[in-house]
Amino acid sequence: MSAPPPTLDDRPDLRALTLDEAQAVAVTLGLPRFRGEQAWRWVHGKGATSWDEMSNIGPAVRDRLAAGIRIGTLVVAEVQRSRDGTIKLRFTTRDGFAIESVLIPDGDKTTQCISSQVGCAVDCQFCATAKLGLTRNLDPGEIADQVYRAKALLAAEDPGGSGRRITNLVYMGMGEPLHNYDNVMRSLRILTHDLGAGLSQRRITVSTAGLVPRLEKLGAEDVRPNLAVSLNASNDRVRDAIMPINKKWNIGKLLAAIRAYPLEHRRRVTFEYVLLADVNDSLAAAGELAQLLRGHRCKVNLIPFNPHPEAAYRRPSSEAIEAFQSECKRLGLPTYLRTPRGDDIDAACGQLANRSNGELLVPLRRKHVAASSAPPAPDVE
Ligand code: SAH
Repeated sequence: MSAPPPTLDDRPDLRALTLDEAQAVAVTLGLPRFRGEQAWRWVHGKGATSWDEMSNIGPAVRDRLAAGIRIGTLVVAEVQRSRDGTIKLRFTTRDGFAIESVLIPDGDKTTQCISSQVGCAVDCQFCATAKLGLTRNLDPGEIADQVYRAKALLAAEDPGGSGRRITNLVYMGMGEPLHNYDNVMRSLRILTHDLGAGLSQRRITVSTAGLVPRLEKLGAEDVRPNLAVSLNASNDRVRDAIMPINKKWNIGKLLAAIRAYPLEHRRRVTFEYVLLADVNDSLAAAGELAQLLRGHRCKVNLIPFNPHPEAAYRRPSSEAIEAFQSECKRLGLPTYLRTPRGDDIDAACGQLANRSNGELLVPLRRKHVAASSAPPAPDVE
C-alpha cells in the first residue's frame, strides 16, 4: 500500500514554534502552558518526530495537543559519505523539494552546514546552487530540523552516545540566509534555546553574499551569530562579474556595513574568498585585498574553487594558492586555507545542487553563464 499524500493542513508545526508560542498554543487548546513546554522539549531537545514518543505526556493530553499542533519532519532521502568522513544528507520537504546539509568532522569538532532556502536567487557565477534558481524559503522548522535529523543520524551510528556531537553550525548550505531573514532569525532563537538544541550563538555562523540593509538589521538583534561574508574579489570590477549582487551593494557599501556591525569582544568577521584561476588569484589581487581589509577585525578563509559541471572556472595551481596566501600574510592579513571537504560526493562549498553519484536529481533552472557575460543583478531587496 502506498503512503497517503501529505495533508497540508494549517495546524502550526511544532518545529517552527518558539517555546513561548508552543506554550501559548497549549493554552488555546485548553491545556496548561507547561504541556506546550513538554512537547516543545521533546521535539527541539530530543528530536522527537511523533506524539507517541512523549512518554511523560498521557494519551488524552497528547490527543488534545495533536488536534491543534502538527509535528513536521524532514525525510532523510539519502545519506552520502565521503572518504574524508564528511557526510552529505539530502532531505525531502513535505511539499517534495530536496535540500542538502553537510556534516564535517574535524578533530573533536563536528560542524554542520545547513541550508536556508530551496535553491538560491543570488546567482553567484561560480556556485552550483545558483544554477537551481530559487524555489522557496525554508521555514524555521525546516532549518532547525536539519540539525535534529543529523543528530539522530549520529546517535543511530553510535548507540553508546559517547561519539560525535554537532559542535558548530554554519548557515552556508543552499540559499542566501539573509534573503530569508525572519525565518533564519527564528531558527537561531530556536536552536540556541537551552531547552532545545542549546547551541551557543558563538558557535553559529551565518554567511551572506552581502545584503547590506539586512546586515544592519542583524547587527541590532539580541541573538547575534558570527558573521561570514562572501567577498570573493578585491575590486568591484571582478566582483561585479562573478557576483551580480555587487552591482546593488558594492564593496565600499558592504565594507562600511561590516565596519558598523557590532562584534563581541575578541570576535572577528570572516571573509570568504573563493580562489578562481586567472580571475582573482594574482599577487596584485592579494595586495589589493590586504589593502581593502586593513583595519577590519577579520580573517580571510581562502576557498580554492571546487569544480562542478555548471561553472567553467578553474582551481588555481597549489603554487598559485600558496603564493596568494603568503602575499596576504606578508601584508599582515590573517588567512586560512580551506581544504575541500567531501568533494567526492559533491558536498564541498558551492557544490550543493542535489546531486547523487554525480547525477542531478532535478534539472537546473538556469543555464551556465560565463563570467564575462554575467546577467544583470537580480532585484534582491
Ligand atoms: N549565500 C551565502 C551562503 C552560502 S555559503 C553566501 O554567499 O555566503 C557558500 C560559500 O561557498 C560562499 O562563501 C561561496 O562564495 C562559496 N562557494 C560557492 N561556490 C563555490 C565553489 N564552486 N567553490 C568554492 N567555494 C564556493
